Amino acid sequence: MSQTGYVYDPLYLDHYTSYHPECPERLEKIMSKLRETSILDYIQSIPPRPATVEEVALVHSPAHIEDIRQICLNGGGHLDPDTYTSERSYDAAMLATGGLLCAVDKVMEGKFRNAFALVRPPGHHAMPERAMGFCLFNNVAIAARYLEKTYGLERILIVDWDVHHGNGTEFTFYNTAKVLYFSVHQSWIFPGTGWTNDIGKGEGKGFTINVPLEAGMGDIEYETVFQEILYPAAMQYKPQFILISAGQDSHHSDPIGSMRLTSLGFENLTKMVMNIADKCCDGRIAATLEGGYNLEGQALSVAAIFNALSGLNFNVHEDTGVKRTATVSPMFMNDINEVKKIHEKYWDFDMNKGMC
Ligand SMILES: [Zn+2]
Repeated sequence: MSQTGYVYDPLYLDHYTSYHPECPERLEKIMSKLRETSILDYIQSIPPRPATVEEVALVHSPAHIEDIRQICLNGGGHLDPDTYTSERSYDAAMLATGGLLCAVDKVMEGKFRNAFALVRPPGHHAMPERAMGFCLFNNVAIAARYLEKTYGLERILIVDWDVHHGNGTEFTFYNTAKVLYFSVHQSWIFPGTGWTNDIGKGEGKGFTINVPLEAGMGDIEYETVFQEILYPAAMQYKPQFILISAGQDSHHSDPIGSMRLTSLGFENLTKMVMNIADKCCDGRIAATLEGGYNLEGQALSVAAIFNALSGLNFNVHEDTGVKRTATVSPMFMNDINEVKKIHEKYWDFDMNKGMC
């Protein structure tokens, strides 16, 4: 019996347009990599169901949901220069959100310790009233609201390691302490949000943690961010469930992002999140696919994430010549210390405190 579930459905391939980085081949390559590495033999399928309109409306306005439905009924089209729909995009998007909700249910029921929803379209840029950045509905935000509503949870941690800031997710939970939104992303790129000073408002003050990084950061820098900022904050927050916005466009091969994470880096970050989940919430994690546009790099990274989630030890690490640096630069540490300083009123970053 595997401890890890995965969500996949061929309908996720029916959201497509020509010459776009957010393409069906992304998922096809992930599935073939999981087969090729035999990881698929060690994880169990969770069949998805479509989300209901009421569930999607936990985050989005009914007008936005209806707009997407109508556009798709009329054959689809571009919503903005980045974001497209095709005829079946509405159905795919409803099944993407519903797929993550199924993953959440199975983990909450104790059927699996953790799960990864391999879905498209992605979600973390989608705003309540607007699609953007390849995203139609904000899957991870809807899942967090669903956890609040269905299971009465009051502390949900969202970890977002996509190279882009999840502006839609931040916006949704900016005024609440019920969700701690933690994002590490490349600064100065799309969507232009996620600055260190954006920490939440009202009751949500301190419950948005943004760690914008300069281009070129790799495994050691990301692991330092997780160790020095995410870990202590999360241990004090004591999440009852952890959602991961898993975007692998921070991989070194990515054509859109300019970071240098390796597949081993993704495996290590996953283990660090699992350590928090083990200590705080019986290991409960549900990850959902966001970006990642180099087909091979993303597929390897996803395989490495499953390697960690299911406690396997397959060699799914590329030999790229990307060397793991031993130390971080003083400039990078300045950025990290700046984040700590801005948040010191809300979180104690002393590693010896706040243990669950
Ligand atoms: Zn992204």
